[in-house]
Amino acid sequence: MLNTPHLLVGAAIGSSLPEAWQIVPVAAASHFVFDSLPHFQGYIEVEDLEKKEVAFLAADIIFGLGLVTFFSLGSPRGDLMWVGALAAILPDFHHIFQVVFGPDSLKRYHKFHMKFHWKKDMKLLPGVATQIITILAAVLIISGVFA
Ligand SMILES: [Zn+2]
Repeated sequence: MLNTPHLLVGAAIGSSLPEAWQIVPVAAASHFVFDSLPHFQGYIEVEDLEKKEVAFLAADIIFGLGLVTFFSLGSPRGDLMWVGALAAILPDFHHIFQVVFGPDSLKRYHKFHMKFHWKKDMKLLPGVATQIITILAAVLIISGVFA
């Protein structure tokens, strides 16, 4: 999935579970669960990103971080929401290694990560819809609608 839904799912987990030691593994595991759902990615291999894709990736990260900032500010669980959000995107950090040290770095982990990842191409609309639904569900959880 894109970074925004991962970040918000992590923040939702951070807003819901009592302790950081519970939040980190659950949020990190959520990454693989949500990567396996049908979704539109736009890019799969980070090593050969085009400029336009880099801009999209940056916008996605900034948007996601902005939303987590918005929901965590003033929340008594703000810190734990950040713990969850960062743990939820941690499983994608091998991409940074691959950009810096070449596509062969962390190859085994990359393979493991891709095992979970939705690989089929998807039409833009349904592929974005699954992510918007994920974001909305996470926002409802953060807002305490289900509490
Ligand atoms: Zn991923």
